[in-house]
Amino acid sequence: MTTTEIQALAERKDAFILAHYYQPMDIQRIAGAVGDSFELAKRATAAPQKTLIFCGVRFMAESAKLLSPDKTVVLPAADAGCPMADMVTPEDVRRLREKHPDAAVMAYVNTSAEVKAECDICCTSSSAEQVARSLREEEIIFLPDRNLGAYVAARAPEKRFILFEGHCPVHRRVAAADVRAAREARPGARVLVHPECLPEVVALADGVGSTSWILREVEQAPPGGQFVIGTEAGVVERLRETAPEQACFLLKAGFVCPNMKKTSLEDVARALNGKTPAVDLDGETMRRARVPLERMMRAGGQAALSQESVPDKSERPCVR
Ligand code: SF4
Repeated sequence: MTTTEIQALAERKDAFILAHYYQPMDIQRIAGAVGDSFELAKRATAAPQKTLIFCGVRFMAESAKLLSPDKTVVLPAADAGCPMADMVTPEDVRRLREKHPDAAVMAYVNTSAEVKAECDICCTSSSAEQVARSLREEEIIFLPDRNLGAYVAARAPEKRFILFEGHCPVHRRVAAADVRAAREARPGARVLVHPECLPEVVALADGVGSTSWILREVEQAPPGGQFVIGTEAGVVERLRETAPEQACFLLKAGFVCPNMKKTSLEDVARALNGKTPAVDLDGETMRRARVPLERMMRAGGQAALSQESVPDKSERPCVR
């Protein structure tokens, strides 16, 4: 099926296609909304269509279902998961709560619905700092991404963070040596990285922020800039279309999330034709997991990790 045929089919089926920035470009091109997790969660809720075709990974489609329980939500590549989300279980959360009874539990959206059901509030990389500051509790259990947790902890020093030892295997592949090599190869380029990268990578960057922030920084810079991008390759591919006047380079070859690349146009067509099962969560999990997500939407509002900054490198307690 061609792009136009898929878009026409979506209209006939009263379906809205959403795609994360890490999706392949042919998927981003057919989507009615492209964004990071937080933007897509908002667009999914606001969409008037009855069906959401969520081109991303499972936790994103689950979050859309939690926020729009009356809509049918379909993940076209049904086996697209997130290894980081799989690193934490509901039992881990219950164990941490027992150990730290006064702490609030803050979950990155990269968690399953079952884990969210055990947490107090969710966040995305663009809302994490504002969400942390919105909490009454001084002590915060942050899960599952230790790197994002360390980054937020450095920016909200009035809070005490207990960091879970999860990570994104895609962002963790990048080392400080890769940043040094990129600077040598492209002197004068600005290095922009995602806070899921290791702290030593973040410390060497010129700017740190969510995928949306990175895109904005490049798109709004004066033409003729040079940028080294430290996040998934889909962002660089997108920038080559949205900011062709800038020279953008991937920080490291192979900076690719295999799960995000699973979606094909055929998968989307199959999902639109009702051949892929919709996201199905049990009622009790839905009821409980919606609470921290809705708290995030209220607290995280328009937040963005928008300042260029390098966090201090002080060690934080770390748990598993
Ligand atoms: S890039 Fe990392 S955090 Fe994002 S979906 Fe892939 S594995 Fe999960």
